[in-house]
Parts: sequence; C-alpha cells; structure tokens
Amino acid sequence: MSGAGESAAGAIGLQAAQELDERYLMRTYKRAAVDFVRGEGALLWDEDGNEYLDFLTGISVSSVGHCNPAVVAAVNEQAARLMHVSNLFYTEPMARLAQRLSDSSLGGRVFFCNSGTEAVECAIKIARKRAHRRGVAAPEIISFEGDFHGRSYGALAATPGMARNEALGPMLPGFRSVPRNDAEALREAVGPNTAAVMLEPIQGEAGIFPTSDEALLVARQLCDEVGALLVLDEIQTGLGRTGSLWAYEQTPVRPDLITSAKALGGGLPIGACITAPVAAEVLEPGDHGSTFAGAPVATAAALAVLDVIDDPALLRGVREKGAALREGLTALDGVREVRGRGLMVGVGLEEGIEAATLAADLLGRGLVVNVPRPDTIRLLPPLVVESAQIERAIGLIGKSLVG
Ligand code: PLP
Repeated sequence: MSGAGESAAGAIGLQAAQELDERYLMRTYKRAAVDFVRGEGALLWDEDGNEYLDFLTGISVSSVGHCNPAVVAAVNEQAARLMHVSNLFYTEPMARLAQRLSDSSLGGRVFFCNSGTEAVECAIKIARKRAHRRGVAAPEIISFEGDFHGRSYGALAATPGMARNEALGPMLPGFRSVPRNDAEALREAVGPNTAAVMLEPIQGEAGIFPTSDEALLVARQLCDEVGALLVLDEIQTGLGRTGSLWAYEQTPVRPDLITSAKALGGGLPIGACITAPVAAEVLEPGDHGSTFAGAPVATAAALAVLDVIDDPALLRGVREKGAALREGLTALDGVREVRGRGLMVGVGLEEGIEAATLAADLLGRGLVVNVPRPDTIRLLPPLVVESAQIERAIGLIGKSLVG
C-alpha cells in the first residue's frame, strides 16, 4: 500500500483509467476527475498524494471511516478462514449478525441481501404476500414524492421521480405516491388494497428532507387501520447516521419493517431486510433467496461495523458533531438553509449559487461532497469524523462560497 504523497504501486494513472472507462464502462455515471488510491478514517488520497477530507463516504457507506482497523482485521481473518458456502448451510457470522440486527431494532427476522435495492425488493415481497393473505388481489405500496428506494424494478416503481422514465417502462404496477409530508393525501391514498406505506425517515437522494413526525404518525395510524405494513427505508438514515442506531428511534413511530444496507458492511456490499414479529413469518422456503447474501466475509465485516457504531458514546458524538456542523454551516454567507439530523446534512444555497460549481470547487480544495439537487450540497461525513475536521470542512465551504 502506498503512503500519503506516493503513487500506488502499479497504478495506471487517472488519464489511462479515464480512457479505459470511456471505452469499456457503460455510461451510467458522470465521474469527477479524481482516482482515489487510499483512505484512512475521514481522509482519502489520490494517485498524486493529494489529501481530501471525505464528507461523502461513498454515499453514507464508510461510516466507521475508511479502512477502519477493526473492520479490516475482521475481513482479513474471515477471508483467510472461509469466504463462501451459499445459503444452503449454516455460517456463524450470518446467524450472529441476524440476532444483532433484530435485537437492536424490531425483534423479528432478517433476510440478508447484497445491496439496498435488494433489501427493498424483499420488503415489497413481504408486503404483497401479506396483503394477499388478507384477500387483497391487487396490493398497493404507497410512498412519498421524492423518496428513493433503489433501481431494480420493484424499488424503482416505489421511487416516483425515476419511475416516470418511460424509456425504462413498463413499470411494475401497484405503486402510487403522494406529496411529501402531505398527511391529507396519505389519508386519501391508503385504503383496503394498501399493502404497505414505504417511506424514508429523511429523504436522502432528494436532498435531505426530513419526513415530519405528523406524517409518520398518520402513516402508522392508517397502516394499523387497514392492516398494512409501515416500512421505513433506513438504507441511508440507519446505522448511526442521524445520531441513533436507527433513525426511527428519534420519531414517534415504530415501523413493522426496516431496510438497511450502505454502512452495514463498512465498504463491503451487504443489505438486510429486518422485520418486526408481525411480518416475520410471511416469507417461506422458495419465496426468496440470493447466492451471495449473508456470506461470511460481509457479515463478519458488518459485525465489526456494529461493534463500532452501536455505542452510546459514538452516537452521542454524532449528535454533538452534527449540531456543530449544522450551526457552523448556518452562519455562512450564501447558505439559505441547513436540513437534516446528526451527520446527514443538506446545505440549501442562496439563489444564484450553483451546487455543482461549489462541489467542484470544494473538490479542488480537498473536500469531497455531492450534489443531490441543483441548489443543495449533501454532507455525509464518517461518524468517526473529528471535531477539527468538521471545523476544517466548514472553513473550506465558507471560503469557497465567498469565491
Ligand atoms: N434506499 C435509499 C434510502 C437509498 O439512499 C439507496 C441508495 O442510495 C437505496 C435505497 C438503494 O441502495 P443501493 O444503491 O445499495 O441499491
């Protein structure tokens, strides 16, 4: 491994990587012109040894910091022992992780998968099958405008902004949406056919917009009335991001099912669909599965991640550092509003300031952020970020905003 200031051994360099990318990769992403070669804690280095403060963490993935030593040790140890046997056999890390996720949340059962969108697929299957059991022929799943639940066809159908892309149609039927936080519209939409109301506690991809307590309470009440499931998508908000292990803990509701992914594997792909007892017995053999899901290395990594995150001192730190970050940002010229909770922060910019231009300038100054909408930059620093690094980020954003 190279140290800061050195190039990675055998690295082909940014330009060569760009040429290969341009020739061989599908054009699904617009990448920034940086190739990162190393990470540690909240820091990244590019191939020229330039240092960056990572306030994006691979979109809320590296929450325990890059190359967290405990996660690296768990991965190395497990990789050297056993990497894969499939779900046809028992493996200890998977069983222990399921217990840990259930005990720390809703108390039901867990289905493992490899990504967020797959966790949502599992939730959709559970909701539909459960609705069929109560005699609903055409079950419906309701979400809010602005929600993002993933890109496979089920999750896509529950993601109103992207489900309108007719070029990818036809979409899966049985999904509808109402305006964000519109309790009245939710009341009108939920009915006997409703299988689930599926919401993000804070909309992440839309630009960090919290779901109101009132909307959550109404959703909970309506689901109880018609026998539907309240599903909270905690893929971005979960695992300490908002200052509690799960974001729902800071709301007045308890969901029937949560989805998790992103930070769970500390950088390895893993997702989980976690139920309360009410939804735990719906799926039966043959209903669902996945070759790689819950495999030993990813689940060993996730256990190490939970050791770090499921710690009252760390979670208190997230709340305190988040408050300091939001306070510092609010005081900056050019900032219109600061949204979010814990270390999940959207910075709404004053009119005339382009978020994309600001993010590009910040990257040049060594701060990694992203742009969920034209007037907003999104900050998702690692939960282990230091207070001095928060001050540094606020300073860089302040300087960039004044030019
Ligand atoms: N749900 C939420 C709230 C997300 O933020 C994301 C990803 O950004 C997903 C689902 C999809 O997760 P993945 O990209 O791992 O499929």
